[in-house]
Amino acid sequence: MLSVETFETIEEAAGAVGERSRFMAGGTLLMVAVNYGNQGFDRIVRTSDRRLGEISNAGDRVHIGAGVTMAKVAASRDLAFLAPAARSVGGPAIRNRATVGGNLFAPHPYGDFATALLALDATVHWADGREEPIETVLQNRGQSIGLAAAVSVPRPQADEFRFLKVARVKPKGASVMALAAWLPKSAGRLENTRIAFGAMGATAARVKACEAALNGTNLDERGIEPALQAATEGLSPQDDALASGWYRREVAPIHLKRLLIPERRL
Ligand SMILES: Cc1cc2nc3c(=O)[nH]c(=O)nc-3n(C[C@H](O)[C@H](O)[C@H](O)COP(=O)(O)OP(=O)(O)OC[C@H]3O[C@@H](n4cnc5c(N)ncnc54)[C@H](O)[C@@H]3O)c2cc1C
Repeated sequence: MLSVETFETIEEAAGAVGERSRFMAGGTLLMVAVNYGNQGFDRIVRTSDRRLGEISNAGDRVHIGAGVTMAKVAASRDLAFLAPAARSVGGPAIRNRATVGGNLFAPHPYGDFATALLALDATVHWADGREEPIETVLQNRGQSIGLAAAVSVPRPQADEFRFLKVARVKPKGASVMALAAWLPKSAGRLENTRIAFGAMGATAARVKACEAALNGTNLDERGIEPALQAATEGLSPQDDALASGWYRREVAPIHLKRLLIPERRL
């Protein structure tokens, strides 16, 4: 027997999330689990709290409620830099339901939007008031049962942030890989670079060796060569119906080059 309960506030809903219950946001994945008779939970928790669907500016950051849909991100002027990542998730029907919060917990090969958030060093704001870097949320997500209320991201300068999704079926296919780069510059050279790959492991992950190789360089062919060599260092891409782990590893430097020097895209 499966029960569904809707709470007025995020805090009340968070209190009801536990071992045998699941929070439902857009339901694009959770309803599939229900339809397949998943026995891991017998209670679905929802909330009608409007705060979950809000986008707001706070200083140099943008706060995005965990219940904001991909369609809403794609239509938001404040989030224009994230629109390519939002538009890469599923087709229009999925994007009308799929939420930012749900994407943090989507299993491989999903999590395209989370890949973009990881490159941007997003902060996850939990319903109980805790704030946590997205990197540790993704690393520990199998263990944590909590309710994400929002994420916040810094607003990158124009052309500092890039996103690329590689899929066999276009425009709606799941990722062979997703790539995101945050490329701030100082005196014409890259600094504090962040590179994230999606669908190249159980969750989106940064490649710190690649970031280190980019820092201090220009975005030109010679400058990025060491970073391309280190493109998959520390990643463990899986075999699945879309591609083998071997293939993913082989083509990652090619797609990274296309991301870093877009004019070379075919
Ligand atoms: C046909 C199809 C195509 C898809 N294509 C893509 C794609 O191209 N790219 C991609 O990345 N994904 C894709 N997805 C997966 C999915 O639609 C997205 O990842 C989406 O963002 C999940 O959000 P949701 O709100 O629907 O999550 P739900 O199904 O509501 O929840 C998914 C999981 O996340 C948990 N959860 C949800 N919100 C929160 C929260 N605020 N705090 C804590 N836990 C939470 C739920 O408890 C559940 O375990 C696709 C799915 C389908 C069915």
